[in-house]
Amino acid sequence: MTTVLITGCAGFVGSTVLRQWLADTEWRLVGIDKFSYAGLRTSIAPLLDHPRFMLQVADIGDGPALQALFAREQPDAVVHLAAESHVDRSLSGPAAFIQTNLVGTAMLLEAARAHVEQLPPARRAAFRFLQVSTDEVFGALGPTGRFNEASPYEPNSPYSATKAGADHLARAWHRSYGLPVLTTHSPNNYGPRQLPEKLIPRIIHHALRGEPLPVYGDGGNVRDWLHVDDHARALRVVLERGEPGETYCIGGGTELSNLDLVHQLCALLDVRRPALAPHARLIQHVADRPGHDWRYAIDGSKLERTLGWRAQRPFAEGLADTVDWYLDHPEWLAAALRQLGMATAPDDR
Ligand code: NAD
Repeated sequence: MTTVLITGCAGFVGSTVLRQWLADTEWRLVGIDKFSYAGLRTSIAPLLDHPRFMLQVADIGDGPALQALFAREQPDAVVHLAAESHVDRSLSGPAAFIQTNLVGTAMLLEAARAHVEQLPPARRAAFRFLQVSTDEVFGALGPTGRFNEASPYEPNSPYSATKAGADHLARAWHRSYGLPVLTTHSPNNYGPRQLPEKLIPRIIHHALRGEPLPVYGDGGNVRDWLHVDDHARALRVVLERGEPGETYCIGGGTELSNLDLVHQLCALLDVRRPALAPHARLIQHVADRPGHDWRYAIDGSKLERTLGWRAQRPFAEGLADTVDWYLDHPEWLAAALRQLGMATAPDDR
């Protein structure tokens, strides 16, 4: 049976990957998570009894723990999602980003290399290390053009700089040691189980409380959006059929300014919570983020052409389902807010 080791399995993308791949494959999944502030036990609790899932609480910066894990579990592949992932936190405290995204990735690559070197030739050739990256490593675009696999790295925040460094380490482990590395670049994801420090769930949370909806600057910054289920499907396609040493950009296909996105969320909430309508009156422009990239957009044609992947979820439907998910799961939102140290009800600010 194929064993896939998934780092950061209790995060937003990781918990989606676990759910989808346990349902759609016969693989045995070994999840690693250190349960930082971003790792939520509630997000994976229903999976803990699954016969093909095993959780290992560990820090990817802990080399000996990783080596013991590889020796015990004998994985056929690694999907590397664990990261410090919030740009604002990287601006106020970059050290944790350097530790996990750079040092942690190096430790993981080393543990994978040591493991692969002792495998018999057939298993060694079939082994894969999937480095999950972001479009943010490419910096900012002007009004036209899209990032592709040949775009130069021009990271602007400590988050994107450490993700860029991690990509370079992964590339070097491929070129120097022959580790079969694949790299993907995804745009912004949206969907269930994303911490309410990120734009979409934060806007929903504030709107439910009738609080100001903070929008950076004039709200004109443009992002390319991809449903997290589509991201998980793309990662599986690349893991199964991608060419080691290759990089794949995952196209979102829905470019929206932050202000347009917030207006769409307000319109969805007006229908679902009419008592507080119109929610758009709550929009409040706040001081812009330093070094805020103006626009991201991805050309995903290589992945479509070579591996046949296409996003399946239309944005309007995916966004409406996402709003419904947060409205239907107040207990998850409360747990996430408690973990972030944020108020959970209108009277506990
Ligand atoms: P997240 O912050 O929701 O989850 C990160 C997870 O990693 C958490 O469960 C956390 O506990 C765990 N973790 C953090 N440090 C760790 C460490 N040292 N050892 C072990 N576990 C650790 O992040 P996410 O949104 O799920 O993103 C996952 C990955 O996908 C990241 O690498 C991110 O750069 C990439 N990515 C995300 C998006 C997006 O929009 N969410 C887009 C492109 C790429």
